[in-house]
Amino acid sequence: MRDANQPPMVSTMMAQPLSLNHLLERAGHLFPSSEIVSRLPDKSYRTHRFGQFHDRTRRLAQALLNLGIGRGDRVATLCWNHHAHLECYFGIPAAGAVMHTLNLRLSPEEIGWIAADAQDRVLVVDDILLPLYRQFAHLHRFEHVLVFPFSGAAVPAGEGLTDYEALLAGTDTAGFRYPDHAEDDPVSMCYTSGTTGRPKGVAYSHRSTVLHTLVGCLGDCWGLRGTDTVLPVTPMFHANSWGIPYAAVMLGTKLVFPGPHLHPDDLLDLMQDHPPTLALGVPTIWLGLIQAYEAALSTQPGRWRLPPGMRSLVGGAAVPESLIRAFDRHGVWLLQGWGMTETSPLATVSYPKAELRDIDADERYRRAAMAGVPVPLVDVRLRQDDGNDAPWDGRSVGEIQVRGPFITGSYHRVPVSEDKFTADGWLRTGDVASMDPHGFVRITDRTKDLIKSGGEWISSVDLENALMGHPQVLEAAVIAIPDEKWSERPLACVVSRNGLAIERASLDACLLGQGFAKWQLPERYEFIDAVPRTSTGKFYKLRLRERFPR
Ligand code: ADP
Repeated sequence: MRDANQPPMVSTMMAQPLSLNHLLERAGHLFPSSEIVSRLPDKSYRTHRFGQFHDRTRRLAQALLNLGIGRGDRVATLCWNHHAHLECYFGIPAAGAVMHTLNLRLSPEEIGWIAADAQDRVLVVDDILLPLYRQFAHLHRFEHVLVFPFSGAAVPAGEGLTDYEALLAGTDTAGFRYPDHAEDDPVSMCYTSGTTGRPKGVAYSHRSTVLHTLVGCLGDCWGLRGTDTVLPVTPMFHANSWGIPYAAVMLGTKLVFPGPHLHPDDLLDLMQDHPPTLALGVPTIWLGLIQAYEAALSTQPGRWRLPPGMRSLVGGAAVPESLIRAFDRHGVWLLQGWGMTETSPLATVSYPKAELRDIDADERYRRAAMAGVPVPLVDVRLRQDDGNDAPWDGRSVGEIQVRGPFITGSYHRVPVSEDKFTADGWLRTGDVASMDPHGFVRITDRTKDLIKSGGEWISSVDLENALMGHPQVLEAAVIAIPDEKWSERPLACVVSRNGLAIERASLDACLLGQGFAKWQLPERYEFIDAVPRTSTGKFYKLRLRERFPR
């Protein structure tokens, strides 16, 4: 029997805080020869070893401390994917400060607004992005602007600019020591892209970042190893490039950064020079890549070869099954994840569970085109309007709500509101989904993109994915248009492969053949040159709704 006078047993484990600094030290000591390859603006490559990276990162941390930057101060980056950006990922937190990645695809006004909202004190900017910086410099004053001479040109004198390389070279790290920190201290922040209102800041902590990194590396998630070669096409300003830079540093994995060269031809060239085993990007990147690759098979045979056995992590938007099949024909497997800036971002991943080991190829593709299973440490529920959770029957839908140690519980300097967080502490994602008995999440839509026709919901995502399986369709985005009788009807905006309109009957037949009912077919098809994109490369439906209000 328990003695009531005895204090409860305590764990004997050390109260050592989880820390990114540990990952940096580990990389420097265990993997000094691992490589970081960066593609420069002139398309040449520069290679750093992890040993150099460790030294340079500590110099950056000391330099920031010397500038008076410390605990909780925001240091912004306006950079492409390259080694110096990686130095910021670790060097800024190593000074106790918070790295704030600015999205270089936003308008100058938006960037300026976000920098002011985050109260950024310092900016690290690529020299080739100085023209962009100058367009928003009047909206927010940084105390220091550190210019990374990415192009190799001299940093312009005046304007209060500091040469990043000169700063690092002139910094002595002999007395460097990591400032003490708690594991809940913030290390980085990202803003949501603002397609649904003002951008909002999400701040990640040492703890959330380390836990997300560990979960991401699991065999049933990215399955990352030190022997991999990782190509993050996902920008480092897009939800921390989905956390892969942290994982690669933790494991000593070779990193290949594409710099500003994201055109499919450039990515394919890069893959010949430094074949990745894991590449990351949004579906539009892979859509462009497979088109260029398949076209070249006949016009320029032998120019490119997709790295055999490469796997590719795809997310950020729905992944059409036709895209997964197309890559698989060339020996590349697309691994789908779902998440958002608020979820660090990996929250679900589509991988073959043990009980589904024996499914046939069609079922395997079907499941690969789903968002997948919640990752460890993330709870997922589907809340319906009546306050109940949708059963896992593969049909009933509800809003995805999540909670966990790497899910945000609030936004930077925004009062917690009921439209974003539930009273019992779950994040409302605004995504609508069903779950099947195996726990596979299938995203139906974003709440605002669902089409309500005659009282029944039609999933724009389902229609898009099915249309993109039509041989003449390059891309398809479906929006709702108002309808007097049905309240809303689907309108399909289609980009055809040859730029010509496609027969309506052929598109309808494609949808009917995939199980759509007649009433779910688009009211109209509009043929457009290209689907507008958001700053992170997703379909920008707001623009389509503006273009086709009815
Ligand atoms: P933003 O919300 O500004 O687009 P995020 O990158 O945070 O920026 O996007 C998160 C959203 O992207 C999710 O809420 C979801 O709607 C969409 N998304 C992410 N992954 C997937 C996926 N695998 N399938 C469908 N939609 C996805």
